[in-house]
Amino acid sequence: MAPVILWFRRDLRLADNPALEAALRTGHPILPLYVLDATPGLRAPGAASLWWLDKSLAALAHDLAARGSRLILRRGEAGRLLRALVAETGAKGVYFNALFDPGLVERDTRLAEDLATGGVGAHRYNGGHLVNPQAVLTKAGGPFSVFTPFWRAAREQVGPGAATAPSGGLPAPEAWPAGDRLADWALHPTAPDWSLGFSDWRPGEAGAHERLETFIDQGLADYAIDRDRPDREGVSRLSPHLHFGEISPKACWRAAEAAAHRGDVSHAQVEKFQAELGWREFNAAVAARVPDLAQTNFNRAFDAFPWRRAPAAFRAWGRGRTGYPLVDAGMRQLWTSGWMHNRVRMVVASFLAKHLLIDWREGEAWFWDCLVDADHASNAGNWQWVAGSGADAAPYFRIFNPVAQGEKFDPKGAYVRRWVPELARLPDKHIHAPWTAPADVLAKAAVKLGDTYPKPIVDHDMARRRALDAYAEVRAAGSGDET
Ligand SMILES: Cc1cc2nc3c(=O)[nH]c(=O)nc-3n(C[C@H](O)[C@H](O)[C@H](O)COP(=O)(O)OP(=O)(O)OC[C@H]3O[C@@H](n4cnc5c(N)ncnc54)[C@H](O)[C@@H]3O)c2cc1C
Repeated sequence: MAPVILWFRRDLRLADNPALEAALRTGHPILPLYVLDATPGLRAPGAASLWWLDKSLAALAHDLAARGSRLILRRGEAGRLLRALVAETGAKGVYFNALFDPGLVERDTRLAEDLATGGVGAHRYNGGHLVNPQAVLTKAGGPFSVFTPFWRAAREQVGPGAATAPSGGLPAPEAWPAGDRLADWALHPTAPDWSLGFSDWRPGEAGAHERLETFIDQGLADYAIDRDRPDREGVSRLSPHLHFGEISPKACWRAAEAAAHRGDVSHAQVEKFQAELGWREFNAAVAARVPDLAQTNFNRAFDAFPWRRAPAAFRAWGRGRTGYPLVDAGMRQLWTSGWMHNRVRMVVASFLAKHLLIDWREGEAWFWDCLVDADHASNAGNWQWVAGSGADAAPYFRIFNPVAQGEKFDPKGAYVRRWVPELARLPDKHIHAPWTAPADVLAKAAVKLGDTYPKPIVDHDMARRRALDAYAEVRAAGSGDET
């Protein structure tokens, strides 16, 4: 019997996978495929994402093998490879879960049209989102630009359904087409292997479910408060698992609801967690409307923003050497572990765009390369939110003070001490502003400012005034303060 192709993309899982369920329903043999996409014009994944992909594909291949199946790997232009594989195997249909980034929607639509001319159906499902982000519309039928009404409308549409997982094996084709060896893709860094600090992660479906269970047991009960505390284990760290689709957002939603029904956690905590999943939906909906959200200001008044070219300051920021401990801790956490706490992401992004007046696009690109959860919609959407150019963005005058943020959200300096060990011996009182410490306190803590740890590369008050002046120019040019 002719096979059907199951095209894995950012849905590297077997449970809760509507494309897989549909392929199984056909009763045809299933040919699971992953393409390392080299379509011209599509943004290449960053280095940390490739590290994750490597492990996630290995896990998926293992899970498929346990069900008598295989993961066929091919590398190149996805559309061309799909058409070639259909011709090679006589496949009767291609099953996949939709992605909503505009470039991908266009490519997938073209591919579906091409396949249809040969009588092969391309079947698309929504496996990556709680709702179809393009189908959450205002009463007038337009898209939302503000989160709260978007989420009110989206919540109504969320139908998390019941968990599904293929109960038996996956029917195998009579002959398997050739595929690449994962190791030959060389996605894991060598010379140097900078991923040693990534060892806490467990990419793959089993790791994702383990992470969710740990969070539901240990983090959800105090999520609304602890989610802002980088010094605590207060968040789920599910973002890379969600980005690669190793777990569905619906599974996260259901697990949180179930915890509330059991009486383990309050509904308020669950709603807060669900609203954060909602920001993922909102960003996807916004990104679906803009041809390239990583390059284009959602609020075009920001096209006139007087960004500075400041390569030395950018380097200091990227390497965690700005002299502001919370910023430096965040940037080092990112560099070392491929992830950064959300509160600190906001602070470091604000520092780049406002204190240093460096174009948010430079920061977005750095995050893109370094984050294991780098996601087109969420990365660009959040960078624009912080810079003030985004949909429902933070108002331009919200300029995070990195010292005050540290004192509030890392009051004992535990987070800073972990990631900036050269400051570890400073007393709590000075940990977020070492330049305020008297000479004898610095000496006792073995801190030599400008030597063992940098002096601040910019003065906060001056930077704040400069940013407000720059934003005033944008406001004069358009309505740059709020969208
Ligand atoms: C400048 C900047 C860049 C960011 N870049 C990314 C990115 O590339 N990829 C990414 O997934 N998130 C990004 N975020 C959003 C957020 O920081 C991460 O989703 C979150 O820190 C992931 O940790 P967690 O899984 O423990 O989150 P939790 O607090 O446990 O939240 C659960 C899930 O909700 C979603 N979520 C939470 N907050 C947001 C948010 N603000 N926007 C979108 N989704 C959210 C994530 O999928 C997350 O896994 C960025 C935020 C900022 C300020």
